Amino acid sequence: MRYSAWTIFKEGISGNGGWKPMWREPEPKGEYDIVVVGAGHGMATGYYLAKEFGCRSVAVLEKGWLGSGNIGRNTTIVRSNYMLPENQPFYELSLKLWEGLEQELNFNVMVSQRGIINLCHSDAQRDAFARRGNAMRLSGADAELLDRDGVRRLCPFLNFDNARFPITGGLWQKRGGTVRHDAVAWGYARAADGLGVDLVQNCEVTGFLISNGTCAGVETTRGLIKAKKVGVAVAGSSGRVMSLAGMRLPIESHVLQAFVSEGLKPALPGVLTFGAGHFYVSQSDKGGLVFGGDIDGYNSYAQRGNLPTLEDVCEGGMALMPMIGRTRLLRMWGGLVDMSMDGSPFIDRTHVEGLYFNGGWNYGGFKATPASGYCFAHLIARDSPHPVAAGMRLDRFRQGAAIDEKGAGAQPNLH
Ligand SMILES: Cc1cc2nc3c(=O)[nH]c(=O)nc-3n(C[C@H](O)[C@H](O)[C@H](O)COP(=O)(O)OP(=O)(O)OC[C@H]3O[C@@H](n4cnc5c(N)ncnc54)[C@H](O)[C@@H]3O)c2cc1C
Repeated sequence: MRYSAWTIFKEGISGNGGWKPMWREPEPKGEYDIVVVGAGHGMATGYYLAKEFGCRSVAVLEKGWLGSGNIGRNTTIVRSNYMLPENQPFYELSLKLWEGLEQELNFNVMVSQRGIINLCHSDAQRDAFARRGNAMRLSGADAELLDRDGVRRLCPFLNFDNARFPITGGLWQKRGGTVRHDAVAWGYARAADGLGVDLVQNCEVTGFLISNGTCAGVETTRGLIKAKKVGVAVAGSSGRVMSLAGMRLPIESHVLQAFVSEGLKPALPGVLTFGAGHFYVSQSDKGGLVFGGDIDGYNSYAQRGNLPTLEDVCEGGMALMPMIGRTRLLRMWGGLVDMSMDGSPFIDRTHVEGLYFNGGWNYGGFKATPASGYCFAHLIARDSPHPVAAGMRLDRFRQGAAIDEKGAGAQPNLH
């Protein structure tokens, strides 16, 4: 069913009886060409496998419901303000895919390019942002360096003269912004379903069928499913799931929390990030401030967080914009993020033939969803990495080719 203004009008005057379910609820078949585990990036992968690479026998298996993972739990920020050559072109491809996604999927995922400003608080940090901005522009992305007055014009409410963290300027990417997170999962699922991809919810993968170093399918809570190729994209469950295939990953699982305030009048021009701590905030179309900060400091497989992190995040917010001290917090939740040791992701084959891995997305995999799905589909379908994801290899630590965007070393909470 194609969505359009005409369809809304027609359904509106005829009792809304003609709307079709957005996707089927198929029983899993015994065999597919390709099985993708996890319906976040995995859902996008399923779509691109069918759309771009002509694969018609594809299933996406999801242990919970569609959108129950981080794809429906994040703070919705999209951007491509990366510096390193292994990252920048990849995230720029993603931003370009976001820009055309609603037309492509025929679904309103509320792409809003309201801009993102990374605030800086010292001359040294401003120099580092200038370098990052130049790297972005060299690879075709947009970037603008704002001085203090430039930031003040856009965000007069910030605490510019905070004694510890004075604001000295910011790096502005106007094409960055927000996208409604769970609508992305629904949009990809609907479009993939239309191309014949089976989305099987409530289907947990509990093992891999591996013999002689080759993967021939998966064991699930809904029976054995054979497949010529299996792709895994399960975020914070990466360590647990890949251990079923005998792999130990350079990834730690942590909880990352998100917070939403009561609705306020429009105040924020776009996304703002605090450069002297972990705090980022945007304002949703309903008026709520949507914000987050650091990961909870211990490893966990629980999708819920703790109060000390809430306090820490709110302190960051107060340092930046004291006006939020009078705002009431409405709700909060946690997601399970896969923190890699250099802060960059993996899209790679594994040592098991026919088994592919996608993970290590840290705080920032939502913005990557289109490019990650596209590049993972490319890898699975063609058995060769897409050029913009070629550096995202599992063996990069052994090779000394870490992609340490922040230069922070192997400490997950600093990425
Ligand atoms: C609070 C929070 C805020 C964030 N904010 C941002 C942001 O503003 N911008 C940004 O770019 N990124 C952000 N992120 C990160 C981003 O959400 C993730 O990196 C991204 O969504 C990861 O995508 P994924 O497909 O790997 O994971 P998910 O969307 O979590 O998908 C993995 C799926 O695998 C399923 N699964 C797990 N185990 C199994 C199994 N055994 N069998 C079958 N299925 C299984 C899970 O149920 C899950 O649905 C945030 C994350 C959180 C938690």
